[in-house]
Amino acid sequence: MHSTKKVLLVFLPSESGVDGAQSLYGEMDNNTIFSWFNRSFRTIIKQSQFAIPPLALMILSSIEVKGVDQSICDMRFDEFPLNKTWDLVGISVQTGMAKKAFALADNLRSRGIVVVLGGAHVTLFPESCIPHADVLVLGEADDLWKEVLTDLTTGSLKKSYQSDHFPDLAISRPVLKTSLIKKRYFTTNLIQTGRGCQYSCDFCNVHVLNGHNLRRRSISDIVTEVALFKKDDSRIFFFVDDSINANPAFALELFRQLTPLKIRWFGQATTTLGQQHELLETFARSGCMALLVGIESIEAKSRNAHKKNQNKASELAQAIKTIRNAGISLYGSFIYGLDGDTLETPSAILDFISDTRLDVPGINILRPIPGTRVFERLKEEGRLLFDPLDITAYRYTFGQEMLYTPKNIPLDAFIESYSALSRQIFTIKNSIARGLAAPSAKPAVLLFNLFYTHLYNLSRHDLQHQLERSPKKKPFCHTVNNF
Ligand code: SF4
Repeated sequence: MHSTKKVLLVFLPSESGVDGAQSLYGEMDNNTIFSWFNRSFRTIIKQSQFAIPPLALMILSSIEVKGVDQSICDMRFDEFPLNKTWDLVGISVQTGMAKKAFALADNLRSRGIVVVLGGAHVTLFPESCIPHADVLVLGEADDLWKEVLTDLTTGSLKKSYQSDHFPDLAISRPVLKTSLIKKRYFTTNLIQTGRGCQYSCDFCNVHVLNGHNLRRRSISDIVTEVALFKKDDSRIFFFVDDSINANPAFALELFRQLTPLKIRWFGQATTTLGQQHELLETFARSGCMALLVGIESIEAKSRNAHKKNQNKASELAQAIKTIRNAGISLYGSFIYGLDGDTLETPSAILDFISDTRLDVPGINILRPIPGTRVFERLKEEGRLLFDPLDITAYRYTFGQEMLYTPKNIPLDAFIESYSALSRQIFTIKNSIARGLAAPSAKPAVLLFNLFYTHLYNLSRHDLQHQLERSPKKKPFCHTVNNF
């Protein structure tokens, strides 16, 4: 008789951000008070449950194969359970966390544990993963994972698994959350209604990884899942799709059917929603409390340079006002430092935020992720500040590191203006004011703003540090020449 195979799926924490904000340069040097404050704040952040569960691992752990028992280890909270026996460990690898993933994989393999690597980084850079894995899974793993688990039970694992097509999401694949510890997370009610994006923003890898066609799950599957999830956890729902309004007819029908379930939900949308009046009303009626919208830039030149073409800069402000007037709070994500930006851009951003009364402004620095078009372009133009071959240098942080030289602004002037911008937006006073003025989800808006006040403080500290560490305040150009 065969014994049950034990499989562990592992999720790794990012370097900084909502998973544990911290300085890239240790505990804020020798400043003990700041260091103490930073550690305390990190604990509060964890206990405030900003973390959301790893959806990809939820989906994979829901796949049932006879003779296999799967569980999840979320290393944002737990150490790897080395005291137990594992027949196979699957690690989800994102480019920003590749270094950590490889170190863990090497350690496990040295102990004789079979390691499978999958995720975005493996799909984009399989060659770099081969030395660290027994098995690679390339692309969306919904169908491939069943094959891996079946082969595990028969002792016939292959070196790699790959499909020549994207999974058909219309096929019913119930998602279970039995492997999750509920109280750790902001919510366990994560719902994905589809994948793919028809746009081609050059700093994004969603269209590279999931394709340009919108693939949708069936509405009845989604409604059933929401009803089931709600029984288990009545907290907020989070629709994780990059644009929940990308297919307006689909979204209209879905949220009409969800309205009787009386959920409260957050999601991500494009500002085009401001012109989709019927859909906007339906969102509000179905319990939409807050949406994240990718504004990215209010400079037409920057939008064109980075192929952010789905909505016009001139329509953004009105769209945001319309959505807020419908009672939905907005998290607006900007990127400062795009190729059309100048030193005038920060004051335009400040005016925009004050005019639209945006509830949570997120002011990001462009992070050229390997595998995106902008990474390739900046590499060709000699503007990357780290070795392009060292993909682990392109780690996830929260605006704490410049990875490239801006086109129109000298690096030190850019860091100064970015820091001044975040210092003006994120004060305790402004955070409280935004929390009180939010059309809905006031406590969440307040918490996010306060949290960002802390994170942007870290960002300013680390950017300054990066600048000072470089010889003659020309930090990075010499490095570029070495490539
Ligand atoms: S940034 Fe948003 S709209 Fe642009 S390609 Fe990525 S997912 Fe699509």
